[in-house]
Amino acid sequence: MDELRDTAEPVDDTELAIEGALRPASLSEFVGQQKVRGQLQLLLDAARIQQRPADHILLSGPPGLGKTTLAMIVAHESGRPLRLSSGPAIQHAGDLAALLSSLTPGEVLFIDEVHRMARSAEEMLYLAMEDFRIDIMVGKGAGATSIPLDLAPFTLVGATTRSGLLPNPLRDRFGFTAHLEYYEPAELERVIERSAMMLGVGLPPIARSEIARRSRGTPRIANRLLRRVRDYTIVHGDGRDADPATVDAALDLYDVDAIGLDRLDRAVLEALVRRFRGGPVGLSTLAVTVGEEAETIESVVEPYLVRIGFMGRTPRGRVATREAYQHLGAAPAESVLEIDDL
Ligand code: ADP
Repeated sequence: MDELRDTAEPVDDTELAIEGALRPASLSEFVGQQKVRGQLQLLLDAARIQQRPADHILLSGPPGLGKTTLAMIVAHESGRPLRLSSGPAIQHAGDLAALLSSLTPGEVLFIDEVHRMARSAEEMLYLAMEDFRIDIMVGKGAGATSIPLDLAPFTLVGATTRSGLLPNPLRDRFGFTAHLEYYEPAELERVIERSAMMLGVGLPPIARSEIARRSRGTPRIANRLLRRVRDYTIVHGDGRDADPATVDAALDLYDVDAIGLDRLDRAVLEALVRRFRGGPVGLSTLAVTVGEEAETIESVVEPYLVRIGFMGRTPRGRVATREAYQHLGAAPAESVLEIDDL
């Protein structure tokens, strides 16, 4: 999902490798999401005591909040191998059959963007999740027969940014579902502190909290901004210590504003406030106006703007609140909504 967000900043292999290195490997290192952590811990402990694979797990929430990391932790903490796949890679039931039949006993299968799997594969997955069995169709038309195939028991960890798009029969087959929330600034400070130590960047607390404040409640963004601050100190400083002025200069350079909104967030707000006079406006119209996919707007941009009270979703469309006008320095329309109206 990350590539949806950052078209201006190419992510190369080195960046991905660093992102991988910064991932916490255990639940105790995983910052925040306290409730979900406790629930997962119980699930994993019970499975370990009974020496069986853990129940299937569904994780939902915006990109960068730790869904892939939690899947890796589930595999790591239960001492099982991990297989990574994604919905868009499973376009036929045959793709899923090949994947499932190659799993070893107890393996953890992570399917990212599970809502984007082909419908025929979804139906195969129901039976696989419930009975560890699939039916393989052989032949076509009247002569077609189905051959049952037993699978090794496995744990499916599904991740989705759009849990509303998951069909109920699929959702019901997950033994545990959790929605990841945006992180509080204090939690992001802990993520940044840990990453800064691993990257060898010296950050005074005030610089840490400035990055946290501008990270859109998202650990992936916090780590990314930290890497840009580190770059800035390498080029303009001593390559190690970053003071608040360095943080400001680096983040301004990358168009991250004082509250962490980036270019696309602001483009959506600008369109809503200036072009559509605060709305209501439909999602697809808004998406065309800013030249982005409606899915990106809906799963990446909107959740945060709604969360900070800048935007509301009403039956008639998207609307801007007084706070959004204030942030853009625009004069509010007479009918503008207050956060409390939403
Ligand atoms: P998602 O799969 O939800 O898009 P990821 O699991 O890939 O998100 O997380 C993105 C990055 O953010 C990871 O590299 C990881 O280092 C960091 N991260 C996410 N959640 C946490 C957390 N709770 N504590 C520390 N780091 C985190």
